[in-house]
Amino acid sequence: MKQSDVIIVGSGIAALQLANKLSKDLNVIILTKREMTAGNSYLAQGGVAAAVSTSDDPYFHYLDTMEAGAHHSNPEAVLEMTKKAPQLIKGLWQSGCRFDEDDNGELILGMEGAHSEKRIVHSGGDATGKHMVDFLLMGLNANVSVQQSTFVYELILNSDETRCTGVKAKLPDGTNEVYCAPHVVLATGGCGQVFALTSNAETATGDGMALAYRAGAELADMEFIQFHPTLLYVDGKTKGLISEAVRGEGAVLVTAEGKRIMDEIHPLKDLAPRHIVSQTIYDYSRRGIQIYLDIANIQDFNSRFPTISMLCTQHGIDIGKGLIPVVPGSHFIMGGVKTDLHGRTSIPGLYAIGETACTGIHGANRLASNSLLEGMFVGENLAEWINSHQDAKKEAVSFIGLHHQTAKRDANMNQIVFNGELPDMDSLKQTMMDRTGIVRTKELLILQNEWLDRFNLRQWLEARLDHLEPSELNRLFMYITATLITQSALERTESRGGHYRKDFPHEDNANWMKKQIIHQRKNVKDGKHEFNQTALAT
Ligand SMILES: Cc1cc2nc3c(=O)[nH]c(=O)nc-3n(C[C@H](O)[C@H](O)[C@H](O)COP(=O)(O)OP(=O)(O)OC[C@H]3O[C@@H](n4cnc5c(N)ncnc54)[C@H](O)[C@@H]3O)c2cc1C
Repeated sequence: MKQSDVIIVGSGIAALQLANKLSKDLNVIILTKREMTAGNSYLAQGGVAAAVSTSDDPYFHYLDTMEAGAHHSNPEAVLEMTKKAPQLIKGLWQSGCRFDEDDNGELILGMEGAHSEKRIVHSGGDATGKHMVDFLLMGLNANVSVQQSTFVYELILNSDETRCTGVKAKLPDGTNEVYCAPHVVLATGGCGQVFALTSNAETATGDGMALAYRAGAELADMEFIQFHPTLLYVDGKTKGLISEAVRGEGAVLVTAEGKRIMDEIHPLKDLAPRHIVSQTIYDYSRRGIQIYLDIANIQDFNSRFPTISMLCTQHGIDIGKGLIPVVPGSHFIMGGVKTDLHGRTSIPGLYAIGETACTGIHGANRLASNSLLEGMFVGENLAEWINSHQDAKKEAVSFIGLHHQTAKRDANMNQIVFNGELPDMDSLKQTMMDRTGIVRTKELLILQNEWLDRFNLRQWLEARLDHLEPSELNRLFMYITATLITQSALERTESRGGHYRKDFPHEDNANWMKKQIIHQRKNVKDGKHEFNQTALAT
């Protein structure tokens, strides 16, 4: 058993921001299932949104975020984040993180879809995430230790299940280890890999959501998935992201014949909100029509977008011809483990930050370039909260007692060894894409729910996991996350933001405005669990 003051699971932007901002007195351990850079943060291209120009104002950023979120966002949370954004960016810039500057040393600001102003701060052209992560990694202090290739597979609660006290993890040599701390933070990113077409890193398998759900934490808004309109599409497969910034710089969506497809769809045309652009391209692709990004208008494409140019070249696309084949795919989940703006979940001692969390900021659809920002914002808030929480050290000292209770609970838990089948990865991803994807209907969602039901979620939620391999655990976590997404999508009988129901094609404000679908695995008095409880919260 290893003990520390803070356990951080994951090593993306949210985790690193938190680790950098925690007091140097605290003993912090980062556990991450692959190498440090193997998450979505390292892939982020476009940049970070912040109202830093003189013509802009955080209030305009707030309004754009609320509009993109289909007014499902928590207004106070959005207001706080957009107000803090310029300070967060300037702080990072002044401490040495390199963002792209003009000849006068001013930040160059990009434009992205659904923003009313140029406010996207970027780095290395389109390598913003890589540069930010590398910078934050360099800043880690000696109080932060890092364990790579360490797969966290279970949260540990105390005997009466009122507090999270640690995690269990698989080590690279195949053995299991228990880590204890008074503060356990899930920074495990999103779940894009649950769908067949995705921009996401291989690590984005919904682990944090599944871990939290098994432990009994509340999750919210799982139906709201953002499908990015433009993933590079070669030989029937997605090969990475073509950032919205490309359309911000003037690229347009066309058929092979050059017909512009967004002109009559939305007043913002190619820069319409992502779900509208995705649905439009999806309609064409279902009719067998390939859609392209026409980049002929963009001067110096190679130097403005070096990462994308390289991606295209690697996959045999000649940038000089000016047409990049694209398809929509899963990109971001707006929902997740329900938290406040300090990352606190419904279980004391358990926190969630970054894409794993649902703070309510993204509402029903995330505004472009708001997620790196949210990771930095809530990561810093949580650090301030833990730092100023006077009990942190005291709790750590009295923690051995808690661990003994934990061990007792673990022994008495009667967790079953369940050797049931798990869905195979390809079938899970394809059925999620086809039935719980960009366009949803009651029939398709029921079909998917029934298919998922075959694999005994209930037993898997009760089961001991110690003997499973990381690859099996990955499948299990994807399965749990896919089930929560499907059930929420079935329940929300309206279309809003990233959730589109063909059978309920409009927003239904009378019945659904500001209502969240909450999932929580509940304890009942006799010690047994109830599963898949959902509730509505306004
Ligand atoms: C291609 C692409 C481009 C994007 N561009 C932008 C952009 O320009 N601007 C923007 O704001 N957003 C962008 N996004 C979204 C943004 O990158 C992510 O939302 C954000 O980086 C998530 O950060 P995170 O720290 O929550 O998670 P990640 O960066 O995904 O990190 C999660 C970490 O958790 C680890 N992990 C997961 N499960 C476990 C486990 N069981 N045990 C141990 N470790 C685990 C992973 O290995 C990883 O280290 C983009 C996303 C993609 C995919």
